Amino acid sequence: MPLRTTRKAQICLLLILLTLQLGGFLATSLISYHVARDNIRQNIVDTELPLTSDTIYSEIQKDLIRPTIISSMMSRDTFVRDWVMSGEQDVGQMTRYLREIQEHYAAFTSFFISEQTHVYYQAKGILKHVDQQSPRDTWYFRVRDMQEPYEINVDVDMANQDRLTFFINYKVFDYEHRFIGATGVGLTVDSVIKLIDDYQQRYERNVYFVDTNGNVVLTGSKGGPQGAHAGLALKEIQGLKSIQESLSHNHGGRFTYREQGRGHFLNVRFIPELNWYLFVDKHEESALAEARQTLYLNLITCLVVSFLVLVLVYLSMRRYHQHIEALATTDTLTELPNRRGFNMLATQALNEAKRDQLPLSALLIDLDHFKVLNDTHGHLAGDEVLRGFAQALQRDLRQSDIICRWGGEEFILLLKGNDAQEARHLAEKIRQSVEKARFAFNGTQLSITTSIGLSELRPSDNLDRLIGRADRALYRAKQSGRNRVCEDHTQ
Ligand code: GH3
Ligand code: MG
Ligand code: MG
Repeated sequence: MPLRTTRKAQICLLLILLTLQLGGFLATSLISYHVARDNIRQNIVDTELPLTSDTIYSEIQKDLIRPTIISSMMSRDTFVRDWVMSGEQDVGQMTRYLREIQEHYAAFTSFFISEQTHVYYQAKGILKHVDQQSPRDTWYFRVRDMQEPYEINVDVDMANQDRLTFFINYKVFDYEHRFIGATGVGLTVDSVIKLIDDYQQRYERNVYFVDTNGNVVLTGSKGGPQGAHAGLALKEIQGLKSIQESLSHNHGGRFTYREQGRGHFLNVRFIPELNWYLFVDKHEESALAEARQTLYLNLITCLVVSFLVLVLVYLSMRRYHQHIEALATTDTLTELPNRRGFNMLATQALNEAKRDQLPLSALLIDLDHFKVLNDTHGHLAGDEVLRGFAQALQRDLRQSDIICRWGGEEFILLLKGNDAQEARHLAEKIRQSVEKARFAFNGTQLSITTSIGLSELRPSDNLDRLIGRADRALYRAKQSGRNRVCEDHTQ
């Protein structure tokens, strides 16, 4: 096969290998990335976000249970009821009572509002009179009219610089079950904000509360989604408009939305005690970062491995090819170049000699009566002599000389830079040394002689003509009795 075709075939094979390998690696990497991504998404939606919601919800409940019990006790307290029923005589007694409750139970605020006088009592004394017309006091009238014995309300606390407070508002009844006022304690929402901050930091998610009107009411200390602060409506926040529309009253849900090209998972839960929605929001960017990193690592590994495999395949292909080429141009018995190998070397030598106008001579050597040697000592003996003769020939020649097994028991030499006279001298040397040489086979010392035909390169010569003349000279050597060197003198 011509060299160029072989190269093409090699490149083709390497490209196919590369495509198969990269394709395989890429496919498995992408498939595992997609599987990992789907698992992560599923896990966020099904487990992570609901779990956060549950935990925050139970933390809030835990925070609210104790004050609820205290408020309940206050509403059943006989002192409170007796004091009201006896006409709210001594304000100091109620104030002391509320202070005791507040300090002993570490509440943020404690209060009692009398239905009879509409006076708002707190730990420091009388705060004000509640007024049905005042929007800040509507809560009291709502509590008065509600069916349930108590409510948890989140409101600003006027007695404490309007800080956002969880109020547990209990209805108080006299012994005939007549409504005589509302009492309870308040807690700041600081602990809930801390909880939100903690969750946001630990799990890279956004936690905030939204009221039933769709307004953000409580966020971590750094704000809600995209930095939104309390008071902002959901519909004003990018990506959340549609969520507000799909929030049905008292029901949460799971949502996904996009904002600035980032996917978000959202878990919404309604908290009846607060009448708020708890939003737990996680953007997939952070969750998928690890899976993406693994994908990149896989791809780099795949590139490196593919490259290494290709280099290895290329090297072994090149070695194999060189080996095959050497086999095709070398004679296996003598390890000399064969006729094919000789043709490549000789063509080059001829061109060089012509270009540099240097002499070049050819010697065609044939072993005499080799058939007889074979017949007498066997074919293996003949082989041994051929091998020994080739070795001896190589020893006597220069590195630059081209030597080849021409076929059977014939050898050819191209002597670079030697004219006919120098070639004759060398041929004679070869003839004599072969004549003297003994080739050992199975304890027998075999000897042989050679006939040598000599020709010198002429300007009009090509390889065939040069060898043709050497062949004619060899014929003459044979004809004239063998074991001699003959030169071609034809014009
Ligand atoms: P001549 O002096 O005229 O050259 O006589 P010859 O017997 O050498 O010539 P001929 O061409 O008749 O015979 C060549 C023999 O060389 C015949 C063949 O069996 C033998 N021969 C050719 N190649 C090999 C080989 O690889 N190994 C062995 N053992 N013998 C070979
Ligand atoms: Mg012969
Ligand atoms: Mg022969």
